[in-house]
Amino acid sequence: MDKVFIRNFIIFVTTLLLCSGTLSYFLIEGERNLGKSETVVEETYKVITEAEQLLKVTESMLSAQRAYLLTQKESFLQRYENNKNLGSNHIARLTMLNEDDPEQLSRIDEIRQYFQELSLELDKRASTFVESARDPIVLDNVEYIDTIRNNIFRLNQAILEQKYHKLNGAIRNLEDKKEQYFEILLISVGFGTVLILILNTFLLQAQRKRSRAETNLKGVEERLSLAIDGTQDGIFDWNIKSNEVFYSRRFFEMLGYDAKPLHGSLEDFTSLLHPEDKDKVNDYMNEYLKGNLSEYIQEFRMKHKSGRWVWIQSRAKAVFDRNGNALRMVGAHTDITSVIKTKEKLETEKNQALEANKAKSEFLAHMSHEIRTPLTAISGIAEILVKQKDKLNKKQAQLVKTLQSSTASLKELINDILDFSKIESGELELNESSFELDTIFEETISMMAVKANEKGVSFVFDYEDIKEETFYGDGKRIRQILVNLIGNAIKFTDQGGVTVQAYFEDRNDIEFLRIDISDTGIGISPEDFDLVFDSFKQADSSVSRKYGGTGLGLPISRKLALFMGGDIFLSSELGKGSTFSLLLPLKKTEKSTDKNNALMNVAKLNEKILLNLNEETKVLIVEDYEGNIVVIGYILDEIGLDYDIAKTGLEALEKWKKHHYDLILMDVQMPEMDGFTATKEIRKVEADQRMDPTPIIGMTAHALVGDKDKCIAAGMDSYLPKPIVEPDLKREILKYLNKKKKAA
Ligand code: ADP
Repeated sequence: MDKVFIRNFIIFVTTLLLCSGTLSYFLIEGERNLGKSETVVEETYKVITEAEQLLKVTESMLSAQRAYLLTQKESFLQRYENNKNLGSNHIARLTMLNEDDPEQLSRIDEIRQYFQELSLELDKRASTFVESARDPIVLDNVEYIDTIRNNIFRLNQAILEQKYHKLNGAIRNLEDKKEQYFEILLISVGFGTVLILILNTFLLQAQRKRSRAETNLKGVEERLSLAIDGTQDGIFDWNIKSNEVFYSRRFFEMLGYDAKPLHGSLEDFTSLLHPEDKDKVNDYMNEYLKGNLSEYIQEFRMKHKSGRWVWIQSRAKAVFDRNGNALRMVGAHTDITSVIKTKEKLETEKNQALEANKAKSEFLAHMSHEIRTPLTAISGIAEILVKQKDKLNKKQAQLVKTLQSSTASLKELINDILDFSKIESGELELNESSFELDTIFEETISMMAVKANEKGVSFVFDYEDIKEETFYGDGKRIRQILVNLIGNAIKFTDQGGVTVQAYFEDRNDIEFLRIDISDTGIGISPEDFDLVFDSFKQADSSVSRKYGGTGLGLPISRKLALFMGGDIFLSSELGKGSTFSLLLPLKKTEKSTDKNNALMNVAKLNEKILLNLNEETKVLIVEDYEGNIVVIGYILDEIGLDYDIAKTGLEALEKWKKHHYDLILMDVQMPEMDGFTATKEIRKVEADQRMDPTPIIGMTAHALVGDKDKCIAAGMDSYLPKPIVEPDLKREILKYLNKKKKAA
């Protein structure tokens, strides 16, 4: 029963008791008053009766005496005597009845005296009459006796009058009281009836409310039971203290059991758990019941009657007391076997797809490697020929130029495919270090200005704002993005020019480097904004026919930017031009003291290398591919660096044992003994004989993640990806020659 009802009921009953108490008091008091009035009436009536009797007795006394005097019969005398006695008795009773009324008492006293006087006179007359017997009756005191009698009558009349008056008053009072009493009675009955009616209404309402609540509860219970029966979930309700658990029919039904009891213990559930899941389920449940988890949702296997395992997802909620002790836990079990099976299938398919994709990427990497190896030789030779163009006639020079530009675009394409496959297979990694941004910009300007010049478009570069800053990041990749974006801008602009602006931008308190590349070229229509960032997609087929390209540059650039935590945005208007904005979160660092010739140009590098050479300086080229030997050999010849050639790892080892070189350029894949083994062997001998280690630079055409690590793990000092880029090779050479000089 609800508290409000109890409180109202108590208030009501108290009011009812108070009211009925007050009414009873009035009733009892009225009854008592009525009783009192009735006594007064009764007593008054008695006095009147006595007084009237006294008058009658007095009359009878006189008439008895008169009769005796006339008849001389003794019986009249006797009657006279009797009446006299009766008279005295009446007077005595009147005195008693008027004890508390002094006025009446004085009247009765007078009456008593007159009565005594009258008795004396009458006695005297009777005796006188006896003595003068037979004489004619002479009644000489008749007048006196009448006077006495009249006095008695007068006084008696006065008593009677007063009493009548009093009696009338008392009767009136009695009637008034009766009327009042009746009124109170009527009010009481009315009030009581109203109160009882209110109580009845109140009880009726409470009853209705209760029955409504009961009906609702019944409805809720019905709905709940229908929901429990209807749901495909198995419901449980565990009383933790008594370890009693209510299981809905579906709970065990979904495990193939239909005869399991609906009321059981927790063991009914745990006994069906998969042995491998038991501890995990218990631990999770304990953690939840200790209050360490905000929600209860776990998946496990339960044994089906047929012996197979059913995957269950259990969701529950516990009820805790004030001290945080769990009292009850209610939850639902869902059969998720098909979901898990689908998930597993999807997982397998995803893995297969990933495997296939990886295989594709590896194939691409392998192919590009295979293509790059001869290409390196072709482009290297083209470079050599270009340098010797003075010795060629005009036609030959033209052919060499075509050869060089064709190999350059083929190299670009191969590099793009390789980058793309690296990104796709998740093998791309950044090579981060400190560098100065202006060096990158200078290099890019010198590269791109030539192209812009050739096309006759203006090329403006503004990087004043960031000139003095040193950054930490992958400089080469940033340069790659810039070359691609600026290359596109120049490519797609026939009139006007290209502007590049670099500055800092603050976004949500994070400092970004922003580079806007704007052009006045053909522009891109807004519906193609997303398309141009898709792999192998170009905005317009007529554009690709006119300008060429693969559709890989932008997707690779964007993925690189995203990989560095930044992005590329595009704003453009068809026919008016485009702006590509590269946004990169860059960490500023202290200016590096060891500038490390990071992006020094070739002429400078040559100069520095020459300063570090002496007559004995010798390098060992370990390479089995003739084309590479020619190119690397030419680069070394150019700077006057002496070298030996070994075509296998074994040959390299033999040569190194005879002559300890200043530097070894070690290919990785070779017949007889690969570069890793050869390096390990060299390092072993050095360690045994406590020799200074020879710097070894690994060279591999795979250029995938892990190649560098493998080279370093084998004992090499650094690594150069193929195709060998002239400045990179020279930088590495300078690095080790410099070290050697410092050590010496
Ligand atoms: P590619 O230039 O090799 O075709 P990209 O991925 O670099 O591949 O560019 C994709 C497409 O985006 C281009 O084919 C061209 O349609 C469009 N595009 C890129 N840059 C510009 C630009 N600056 N102006 C106009 N269109 C551009």
